[in-house]
Amino acid sequence: MTLNPATISNIILIATGFAAAFAAALWLSLIIWTYRDIRRRARDPLVRILAVLVVAILFLPGVLVYLILRPPRTQEEEFQQTLEEEALLASIEESSLCPGCGRRVQEDWVACPSCYTRLKKPCHQCGKAIELAWNLCPYCGTPAPGMRRDVLNIDDAMRNLSGDAVSEGETGAGIDPANDNF
Ligand SMILES: [Zn+2]
Ligand SMILES: [Zn+2]
Repeated sequence: MTLNPATISNIILIATGFAAAFAAALWLSLIIWTYRDIRRRARDPLVRILAVLVVAILFLPGVLVYLILRPPRTQEEEFQQTLEEEALLASIEESSLCPGCGRRVQEDWVACPSCYTRLKKPCHQCGKAIELAWNLCPYCGTPAPGMRRDVLNIDDAMRNLSGDAVSEGETGAGIDPANDNF
């Protein structure tokens, strides 16, 4: 069987047509892909247009150029990273530092093991570590030793209001810190 020249040229024509159609489809889909990809990575409309133009004009080498120059992370990934960084920063800020030496200390430590700075005071009632500035234990409601007198004064005032039987001497004795443990 022999092929005549007309048949051969027809086959070449059809093959060329297919190749051209494939190239056109590839070109178009690469432009669409680039547009979708750059839309997730860049907010600037000029950057988006430039990326699509590079691929549209340079075709396959343009895709290579785009892949090299495109922003490495999508906006979503960047947002996620920002969230992670913020969470990390918050956790660092949460763990407190010793005011004496600047080393990291645990929340429930009463003193710094490195420089012996007093960090917290133990509640004299329940023993939990509470802030030095707090005047009342938030765990059991017991007033800190320095604050007993004030609270006792309120107690005395209540006692005075409730009955006239309270004498001046009893009120004075009530101020004594050792007297409120009954
Ligand atoms: Zn310290
Ligand atoms: Zn307590």
